Amino acid sequence: MTAWQSPKPLPTPIAMSTRLPDPLPNSEPTPIPIPDRTSRHQPDQSIQDTQSKLPTPNLRFAIHDLTHSGALKFQREISAGTALQEAIRTVIYLLYDTTGKTIDHPPVRSITFILKSMGGVAYTTGNDLDDEHKEIHLSLEYIDAQPENRVRAEILGVITHEMVHVWQWSAPGTPGGLIEGIADYVRLKAGFSPPHWSRKPGEKWDAGYERTGFFLEWLEQKFGSETIVQINGLLKGERYESKIWKEVFGHDVDDLFKTYQTEFEKRETIKEGNGTQPEHA
Ligand SMILES: [Zn+2]
Repeated sequence: MTAWQSPKPLPTPIAMSTRLPDPLPNSEPTPIPIPDRTSRHQPDQSIQDTQSKLPTPNLRFAIHDLTHSGALKFQREISAGTALQEAIRTVIYLLYDTTGKTIDHPPVRSITFILKSMGGVAYTTGNDLDDEHKEIHLSLEYIDAQPENRVRAEILGVITHEMVHVWQWSAPGTPGGLIEGIADYVRLKAGFSPPHWSRKPGEKWDAGYERTGFFLEWLEQKFGSETIVQINGLLKGERYESKIWKEVFGHDVDDLFKTYQTEFEKRETIKEGNGTQPEHA
């Protein structure tokens, strides 16, 4: 792990344009926004080569109330199959080393994506009988509540977050905040961070969701493009051990977080200073 490598970029989608989300109904599926074209791979490694190694679980889709206004909104905006495949590709690319012969992810035989009437936003679970069959449930009411200009990106963001839970490692004892933070880190990197997300570090490294997601992004900027791949890999073990942070980064996670907070405050102070400086006459 070398310090100060560039952040891990996303791969280029296959056979897709790179235009921005199109709000028009029945438009072509929008690809994942690409933040950076710099590849961490060898230049001769073709996109098809990576694509051929991606897992291909059986994908299923169910709408439990076809005429619900949230279901109609979903069907106007999203091609479910493309959205799930894109989310799988993004998650695997950001959490795993895709350069080897195989990708060391948990076994997943099928993913059933279910739109249904329920409270909350979404959740991911394993089938009662066999945890290798996953289900992602998304609330029709939540979809319905999204403004027209946000609904597509919000749905894709939630699918990406939930898809992380399908594929990430989470050894017993892994802090829930880290599991959720990795999910929002991937959502952030995929370009689906919602406008209300704040970069303010908060008080705890494992507060979860975007708080921890932004912290993980900062770690990646500090310690290189494989940082989150490495953290995910370490969560494969028998049990989560807090010493992994010291082993990987040379510091305890609380110390890393303090540095993160301090750097953030410094940047804010500089920004504020610039904001109040009188203009030159
Ligand atoms: Zn989650």
